[in-house]
Amino acid sequence: MTLLERMLMNTDSAVILGHVRPDGDCVGAALGLYSYIRSCYPAIRTAVYLEEASPKFSYLKGFDEIRHQTDEESWRLCICVDSSDRERLGEFVCYLDRAEASLCLDHHVTNTGYAQHNVVDAQGSSTCEVLFGQIDESRIDKSIAECLYTGIVHDTGVFKYSCTSPRTMEIAGRLMGKGVDFGSIIDDSFYRKTYIQNQILGRALLESITFLDGRCIFSAIRQNVMELYGVDGRDMDGIIDQLRLTEGVEAAIFLYQTGAQEYKVSLRSQSIVDVSKIAAFFGGGGHVRAAGCTMSGSIHDVINNLSLHIAKQLEEREQEE
Ligand code: AMP
Ligand code: MN
Ligand code: MN
Repeated sequence: MTLLERMLMNTDSAVILGHVRPDGDCVGAALGLYSYIRSCYPAIRTAVYLEEASPKFSYLKGFDEIRHQTDEESWRLCICVDSSDRERLGEFVCYLDRAEASLCLDHHVTNTGYAQHNVVDAQGSSTCEVLFGQIDESRIDKSIAECLYTGIVHDTGVFKYSCTSPRTMEIAGRLMGKGVDFGSIIDDSFYRKTYIQNQILGRALLESITFLDGRCIFSAIRQNVMELYGVDGRDMDGIIDQLRLTEGVEAAIFLYQTGAQEYKVSLRSQSIVDVSKIAAFFGGGGHVRAAGCTMSGSIHDVINNLSLHIAKQLEEREQEE
């Protein structure tokens, strides 16, 4: 029996938390686990607390039941998904503090082991892949499979990032066998953009700037531009992926403004730079090829600070060769 199942056997209530600005893996893992508990452990009182996620995930079962506000409730077991440290839980960390037992399911190399028990597979493509290993496959129904498939699709960039393994593909195949409409999930939640999302993507690409001899690229969206288009962080998915695919680019940076002198930073690399180290240095985290953090200062300051770290890693690599 897995650790998750053992912990579920020993509780009468379980709350599920994820990270701030929840992405497809976070929403998929949280709702997949929620449906699994509801169908396999009907006696357990359960709920999911997350910040508002993009409506493109509304096809996932339980999406409308996600709670977005903290309240006075307590839960005996707290399960945190896809969150590498306590701060990533945002205001919902209060439920972790009130719980008697806690379990973290994650795949971030920067995971701090903050829960009582931590199942962290840094080789795993996604938290949904980690979750698949913790639940009984025979009890995965179509709606749970849709959640897990969505998470895997998003964290692998549709099965192409370096985190994709033969096991990832095998799991995706098993989920396909549960009858998920894989084509629609991929198109509707990953590739489909609203008109405005396409416009902001276009603008970000148009204004992008290369540096370090074309080996790096960045683009930044200021708050006044976000207001002009009526977009928020949830509309920026995919911008960093296109920057990353610029020919000759090793490292890509995308920023969008979140405060007077504050930016949400996304970092991606091709094959040399370890962006998880850079993000961790600035208080964030993530994976070797995809990481993020929040930074203060002007756009100029942020890019300068990041550029120093990227240049240092590139130089170190050149010296090794
Ligand atoms: P993003 O650029 O936001 O898509 O994030 C890329 C990866 O880095 C994801 O796995 C995130 O979970 C992780 N990440 C992003 N921001 C942070 C942060 N502030 N702290 C820790 N991990 C982060
Ligand atoms: Mn995530
Ligand atoms: Mn993830």
